[in-house]
Amino acid sequence: MVVKTQIPLLKDHHTHPFMYAVLSRCIDLKSVSNKQEALSLIKSGNDEINVILGWNNSLYLFEQRELEQLPAVVICNTSLHRFLINRAAREKLGASHQEILAHLDEMHWVEKNLPKILNLIASIKSYHPEQIERFYHALLQQGVWYAEELLLPNEGVIHLFKEQGYFERTRFWADMETFHSLSREAQRDVYGIKIFTDGALGSETAALYAPYLTTGKKGPLVYSDEELHAIIHQVVEINKAVALHAIGDSATAQIVTVLSLIKDEQGSIPPTRIEHCQFISQREAQKAKSLGITLSMQPNFSWDSVQYQDRLSEKDQTKNNPFRMLIDEIGFVPGQDLVFGSDGMPHGAQNALENALFPPFPSQALTLDEFVGGYCMHDKTHGYIQITIDEDKRRVLTTVQGV
Ligand SMILES: [Zn+2]
Repeated sequence: MVVKTQIPLLKDHHTHPFMYAVLSRCIDLKSVSNKQEALSLIKSGNDEINVILGWNNSLYLFEQRELEQLPAVVICNTSLHRFLINRAAREKLGASHQEILAHLDEMHWVEKNLPKILNLIASIKSYHPEQIERFYHALLQQGVWYAEELLLPNEGVIHLFKEQGYFERTRFWADMETFHSLSREAQRDVYGIKIFTDGALGSETAALYAPYLTTGKKGPLVYSDEELHAIIHQVVEINKAVALHAIGDSATAQIVTVLSLIKDEQGSIPPTRIEHCQFISQREAQKAKSLGITLSMQPNFSWDSVQYQDRLSEKDQTKNNPFRMLIDEIGFVPGQDLVFGSDGMPHGAQNALENALFPPFPSQALTLDEFVGGYCMHDKTHGYIQITIDEDKRRVLTTVQGV
């Protein structure tokens, strides 16, 4: 059966418009499936330091001697939670970034300091204000009107978005260190604080209870319960919302435990979102619901169940993105306490809709109404997306209209 209908433009609740705008012209390995092709593409880079995106380590790995034969290069794992750098790039980055360069191979340090690392990577590329405009234009062509910025790098970016007229089409979240570096006025423009509690599947650092099949190791939690308690307490003191990055079931459980404690002590918790929340047990989901936590999830990441079969057990593949359990059994409501975004992996309506309507497992499926509730603008004021759903082929075609 083929269904044709219209939906409002997308409101992407989790992405990184500034970083993606700045990195928009980098070499991207996302459609490269073998190492030879990747190496020759990287060799074509002619920046002083080449930032390479989209490396998927389930397809191929790089040896250090291969990296040393390349021009100055920083290669980012597709998760943006793991980085390879060669000597030429280290030398060019030089003394000013010694701390980061010294720890770039240490998985725990990387997760704890990720905002700093991503700021450094974005700063390698010089940028022009028009890149923001071009980026939002490209987003719109893919059906996205609004895009939350989950990692504000500095105050200048707020001014830039205001000058360019995109301030109303984003919401800024900042890590605690960046927040404290801002002026009072800029602090008012920040909606909430972003905290990483674990890593990502792509870098084998999401804190799952089970060890990764590839490494035999578990992904670590970034903080002890006490440390996380203290950091969330700091958020309470500045009276902001909090967005807690957690992918593994051990990380989502830790958040629920720590927030339950804060609720018991203080009677309330800050407005809280769990970002990604790909693995969460029914029990923890029930507790999250009763604490009033919003889940900010990415239908795109249902595909991780296929993409990362090398590292996830069959059981864990089926546990990823359990939308049916969250909605049918726990009562999360799309648009109220369940919101959707892309994390830029990739942006746009087409991929999001196909993964929502036709995911690898039935437990990951969303209805079109649920998708619209959690992922779309309230109305079609800014335009709409014409969609054609082919249920037999499990494909969705999208065209953006009225913009
Ligand atoms: Zn993100």
